[in-house]
Amino acid sequence: MSDDPLRVYDLDLDELESYLTHLDEPSYRAQQVWEWLYVQLADSFEQMTNLPGALRERLAEETTVQLLEVVDTIRSTDGGTRKDLLRLLDGETIEAVLMRYERRRTACLSTQVGCGMGCPFCATGQMGFRRDLSSGEIVAQAVHFTRVLRHEGDSLTNVVLMGMGEPLANYEASLAAIRRLSHPTGFRLGQRHITLSTVGLVPEIHRLAREELQITLAVSLHAATDDLRNQIVPINRRYPLDPLFDACADYVEQTGRRISFEWALITGVNDGSEQAHALANRIQGLLAHVNLIPLNPSPDYQREGSNRIHVRAFAAVLDQLGVPYTIRVRRGTAIQAGCGQLRQRSGRG
Ligand code: SAH
Ligand code: SF4
Repeated sequence: MSDDPLRVYDLDLDELESYLTHLDEPSYRAQQVWEWLYVQLADSFEQMTNLPGALRERLAEETTVQLLEVVDTIRSTDGGTRKDLLRLLDGETIEAVLMRYERRRTACLSTQVGCGMGCPFCATGQMGFRRDLSSGEIVAQAVHFTRVLRHEGDSLTNVVLMGMGEPLANYEASLAAIRRLSHPTGFRLGQRHITLSTVGLVPEIHRLAREELQITLAVSLHAATDDLRNQIVPINRRYPLDPLFDACADYVEQTGRRISFEWALITGVNDGSEQAHALANRIQGLLAHVNLIPLNPSPDYQREGSNRIHVRAFAAVLDQLGVPYTIRVRRGTAIQAGCGQLRQRSGRG
């Protein structure tokens, strides 16, 4: 461990300050470096021209700015979506996706290498858990896409923690990354433009509700009865629907923010009217919105995403019962933009 360079993207502003103070630098240096990292998006210390040369050299020796190397990129045919396979310093690989849709420029970030939650339909789940990402490794994915966009005279507008991994199982790093990306003198992404997606870890949802953040919480529901959810989202056996919905109600009460429920429609599994009714019952009275997405194919799951007729039929029941929803088009199915799929395609891990 001791030979590993310090990753500057792992540091909060006050940690950067104490590090630079320990190098006998004046306190304003931290803000200078901070701006190089999060405003100018410098990818080396050489670029930080307002720092003394000796300091730049020392920083380059002891620390590193570069955490990710792009090893593969695939683009959708319309050019709107791009998915990158990124190699970390220890050789592990993760994926991150950039989506352009109307005026939105959304980066979908990974929070872990693999995932231990075992959802059978998910390519990342099929891989198992390998390790947590550090806060800097999460942040660096957003910085990477911001550089790509800046090259085109464009900028990032939204971040979703919806790539590989379960963000609430890597709570500290995910929260630190959210705070750093929304820092008012740094990256300055509005918290309302950040979404965290969770499989439904109940104690962490209660904890998140008390962080005084303005982010959107998305809960990957996929089933509205315990019998079915136990099968397709195994963590439901530990955190069944009753405590999960208590946690969601708590989140809404504490934050005043609307919750999103993700529902991947799977033919013959969760796309019938019985589930639609159960869903409507569950979210009655809750400030919530449902996102319907036909399941994306993944290698080890032999079920199919619902076709348009079944999606419409499911949505019609929600209409009838007054449940607000959006039907999402899976952007990037053709480029395996579903979580974990590029890594599998490349045969890594
Ligand atoms: N672990 C978190 C965030 C990463 S997964 C979570 O589960 O919420 C991001 C989203 O992609 C989740 O809603 C997940 O259920 C969904 N997902 C995973 N595999 C999918 C697939 N094959 N088709 C459609 N959605 C999928
Ligand atoms: Fe993990 Fe989310 Fe995939 Fe489930 S859906 S295995 S929680 S990444």
